[in-house]
Amino acid sequence: MPKPHELVAERTRRLVEEHPPGETPVRDFLAARFDAGLAWVRFPEGLGGLGLPHGLQPVSDAIVEAAGGPDPFALNPMGYGMAGPTLVAHGSPELRRRLLRPLYVCDDIWCQLFSEPGAGSDLAGLATRATRGADGAWTVDGRKVWTSKAHEARWALLLARTDPDVPKHAGLTYFVLDMRDPGVEVRPLRQMTGDADFNEVRLDGARIPDDHRLGPAGAGWRVAMTTLANERSAIGGGSTVRGAGPIAPALELWRDRPDLRTPVRRDRLVSLFARADALRLTGIRYAAAPSDYPNSPEGTLGKLVDAELNQDVLEFCVEMLGAEATAFPSYEPGGDPAADAARRADVRWRFLRSRANTIEGGTAEVLRNVLGERALGLPGDVRVDKDRPWRDVPRG
Ligand SMILES: Cc1cc2nc3c(=O)[nH]c(=O)nc-3n(C[C@H](O)[C@H](O)[C@H](O)COP(=O)(O)OP(=O)(O)OC[C@H]3O[C@@H](n4cnc5c(N)ncnc54)[C@H](O)[C@@H]3O)c2cc1C
Repeated sequence: MPKPHELVAERTRRLVEEHPPGETPVRDFLAARFDAGLAWVRFPEGLGGLGLPHGLQPVSDAIVEAAGGPDPFALNPMGYGMAGPTLVAHGSPELRRRLLRPLYVCDDIWCQLFSEPGAGSDLAGLATRATRGADGAWTVDGRKVWTSKAHEARWALLLARTDPDVPKHAGLTYFVLDMRDPGVEVRPLRQMTGDADFNEVRLDGARIPDDHRLGPAGAGWRVAMTTLANERSAIGGGSTVRGAGPIAPALELWRDRPDLRTPVRRDRLVSLFARADALRLTGIRYAAAPSDYPNSPEGTLGKLVDAELNQDVLEFCVEMLGAEATAFPSYEPGGDPAADAARRADVRWRFLRSRANTIEGGTAEVLRNVLGERALGLPGDVRVDKDRPWRDVPRG
């Protein structure tokens, strides 16, 4: 009987042998990986997993990455990182069976309809309303913002207010929304990189059948906690390979451009490298975290440190390049995927994109609160509206 570690490695090696990534269409490779239980090894068998500890996922990921296989998080971040784990934890057997495989194979892209103009960090304060009709179905009205991938998404994770008369955390319900519903309008928002990866979404009488509710009515906050913890862990899980991850662009620039090297810059590079290695070691500790994954503090810590380090590394790169850094290749994403991938690989594009790292997936300030309160047991933030009905809380 092979040890779980060997089983995962052996299965993954067989997968890449039988479906060489260079010759296999991306969707076919992902489908084969799902069917082999290597999509999320911690998920139950039949749902893309093998029921093994989450710490074995990097074993499979490293083999797939070395073979040039696709990265499901890059292709369908909200689907792979958040929707999958939330469906497994809170979805009905029918929803999991129906939605998980197309999610992993990227037939269905997912988005996350949480943030609103008046509720980002204060997510539990959100105002989008869902009301239940006589037929049991829900009607949703409201406005969401910053919705990454909404323009491509088939399904959305939606958090909505279903009871305004109770305190804010108690009056929320969690749904899976069909983005093709006629009550959904998606409007792209252009970012400073020139891309429009996120959107404003108007929900105007959008309809949701009751069997697309995750968890009981009024218990959406608990479901949202699953999504958010998985989001932080997915972003902050990091690389376990020395020199990969956020530090990579600085090492590449140092290697490729000897003309830009100075002793002072070497000193800065070494200190960034030390931070990157501490992050890598935290990632290894995180992979070995006990079964309460993804709530282990290492996931949140990884997200916080990864975001700040990525920004500092890219700032360092741009400073090294000096005037060259001002010649941004193009603000116009073209239709050619290869040219666009090259544009996005450019260190100047990455510098501009990195400014969002300390906002997306929870701001650095709020993550420090989470770590302070939940990991270190420090006194909580002041919450004056905690016990008041949401309806009575003043909003801007
Ligand atoms: C690139 C990008 C993609 C995104 N994609 C999505 C998505 O797909 N779906 C989605 O739902 N959302 C998405 N978001 C939204 C993101 O989750 C929110 O922007 C974030 O949670 C912050 O909320 P806010 O913008 O309303 O800022 P605010 O909550 O208004 O915060 C403003 C500032 O106040 C600070 N602050 C707030 N509360 C506290 C506190 N208690 N203690 C200390 N400081 C505090 C914040 O840290 C921040 O610096 C995305 C954001 C970005 C930048």
